[in-house]
Amino acid sequence: MSNLDDLLHSVFGFDHFRPGQREIVEAVSQGRNVLAIMPTGGGKSLCYQLPALARDGVTVVISPLIALMRDQVRALRELGVSAGALTSGNTDEETEELFQALDDGSLRLLYIAPERLANPGTERLLRRAKTTLIAVDEAHCVSQWGHDFRPDYLRIGDLRRRLGLPLAAFTATADAETRAEIVTRLFDGVAPETFLRGFDRPNITLAFQPKNKPREQILAFAAARKGQSGIVYCATRARTETLARALSDAGHNAVAYHAGLEAEERRIVESRFSREDGLIVVATVAFGMGVDKPDIRWVAHSDLPKSIESYYQEIGRAGRDGAPADTLTLYGADDIRLRRAQIDEGLAPPERKEADHARLNALLGLAEARHCRRRVLLRYFGEEIDACGNCDLCADPPELFDGTEAVRKALSAILRTDQGFGAGYLIDLLRGVANDRIRARGHDSLPTFGVGADLSKGEWQAIFRQMMGYDLIRPDAARHGALRMTQAARPILRDEQKIELRRDTIKATPTRATPLALVAEEDEPLLAALKAKRRELAEAMKAPAYVVFPDRTLIEMASLRPATLDEFARLNGVGAKKLEKYGDAFLSVINGAPPPDLHPARRKLAGSAGGSLFDRLQEAQIALARGEDGTGKPMSCTSRELARLAAQRPDDIGGIARILGETRAQRFGPRFMEILTCGE
Ligand code: ADP
Ligand code: ZN
Repeated sequence: MSNLDDLLHSVFGFDHFRPGQREIVEAVSQGRNVLAIMPTGGGKSLCYQLPALARDGVTVVISPLIALMRDQVRALRELGVSAGALTSGNTDEETEELFQALDDGSLRLLYIAPERLANPGTERLLRRAKTTLIAVDEAHCVSQWGHDFRPDYLRIGDLRRRLGLPLAAFTATADAETRAEIVTRLFDGVAPETFLRGFDRPNITLAFQPKNKPREQILAFAAARKGQSGIVYCATRARTETLARALSDAGHNAVAYHAGLEAEERRIVESRFSREDGLIVVATVAFGMGVDKPDIRWVAHSDLPKSIESYYQEIGRAGRDGAPADTLTLYGADDIRLRRAQIDEGLAPPERKEADHARLNALLGLAEARHCRRRVLLRYFGEEIDACGNCDLCADPPELFDGTEAVRKALSAILRTDQGFGAGYLIDLLRGVANDRIRARGHDSLPTFGVGADLSKGEWQAIFRQMMGYDLIRPDAARHGALRMTQAARPILRDEQKIELRRDTIKATPTRATPLALVAEEDEPLLAALKAKRRELAEAMKAPAYVVFPDRTLIEMASLRPATLDEFARLNGVGAKKLEKYGDAFLSVINGAPPPDLHPARRKLAGSAGGSLFDRLQEAQIALARGEDGTGKPMSCTSRELARLAAQRPDDIGGIARILGETRAQRFGPRFMEILTCGE
């Protein structure tokens, strides 16, 4: 086992690296410049935290949000790692403690807020602290075009140059422009070793539904996930308030969050969300980067997000712990109109607007997908997969039909009315409903009048929505949303291309109203009890629950039901420090009684191969207490000696004698040798 594997195991308690982590951890540990692009929840933090432990000196971590830094520092301390944060929110005592650890050389990770970089004392401090590595979290904050731009991030490149240190930058933002900007600003334009991780998040279930009484759709979705932490994203502030109220009335613990709240109110919601189990936050997109909660079990969009990137980022906040998480995105023709109008009415230059329309198109293509949704999503990011089996379309393939005829009728209705009307008018025209407006314009005598009478109003609405989704028609910003045909529609109009559509997919009940169970039914009471224990421990420390253990670990605990410390140590997320601190408490919950007392020397070996060696050595030494024939002088070894033997595994009698002395080596040596050398 390499040193890195060993740290992964003993400090973090993880069995293996997640895909992509090992390569990054190796490169960073070796002091190479690195840019790593990994999806949210991919496990970026580990990629600088572990190298920080493998390297000498202090690793400085620059991260944009104070609340997140503090939580990370907490979580590291829980793992037994000496870490501190230097932020404006520190108490004197915290700062004092931090400098102490810096001076005595024990500190391994120092988190600093980007504002600190403006302070000339910071560079001096970093030199004094023997900094050997700079890690930059959320590196896309250097991008002046992005939403998360942090002017102070522009100082990082300078700092790197002056300190002459390797720099590792991390982000979940994949687009090439942002990447190029990171290279320019952080690495002086010299491309670092770059890692682009796969974008799949297989534990997240994907689902879309056309809007049909959206409030009820969201309430039904939340009701099926009662008690689990979730986020509902809305397009407007007003909607966050009404939906939060509706959810509360339905008995959920729900709060609204948007940019109109006071900073203090927002901070309270953020900290409640990370600390409480089962809170629902109904938010505009303003609720996002500040959320580092690994156990968000679901994300719903009550309105269509603005692009495929935003969609991916927002759903990506769910299930970072790797346990199953659910998502649902609602969309309708009004959303499409709203998003188009926002782009058209924005101040961006024309090329940028076209690019934004294209990003929206990609999302609409995903919404109207006819086969595996994850394939469509990942193809956008340049990845090919087989059907995933974990999306609504894999679970319940939609009914398709040849929509060419219907689409041509609709296009012809649009052209014959000079592209001056919206969907409602056009649908009446197609269905032959001679209302006053249609009669006033004489449109009831057009050849297209009534050619679509075979389809219901609802069916036509679905067809128009899909046509907008495929960008065959667009609302005309200059003409109050009248629909106009795009170039993409020409081949269909000319009958050179066919188009397949979905039958209207609106159903009475939302797809899979029941979420994936996290554990088998018989394990649910135990999971609840374990969560209660976790809450109690977290509250006592005033820390978020996941700092004790993430859901993922509790789920394993409930289904595997470890009976001993050894078994407990093998759970994912249990490292040496947490085993010692929490093992007994959780084992008591699982088994109704604390585990048998173990000698401290033996406890240290829990879960490792050394643990079972120790047990076999102990058994052997009891059997040999009075020698092979049971008549010898009583002799024994201490637990500490047995632990040393198990840990060091001497490979000859001489080695055993160095630990036990000659006399006892004569009695126990041969049998111990057999134990220590077998089963390698
Ligand atoms: P990111 O910053 O990439 O969104 P985090 O670093 O917050 O993700 O990691 C997400 C979750 O995954 C955390 O709870 C973390 O402890 C867990 N994690 C990271 N690496 C591993 C691993 N190798 N095995 C198991 N869990 C891991
Ligand atoms: Zn699928």
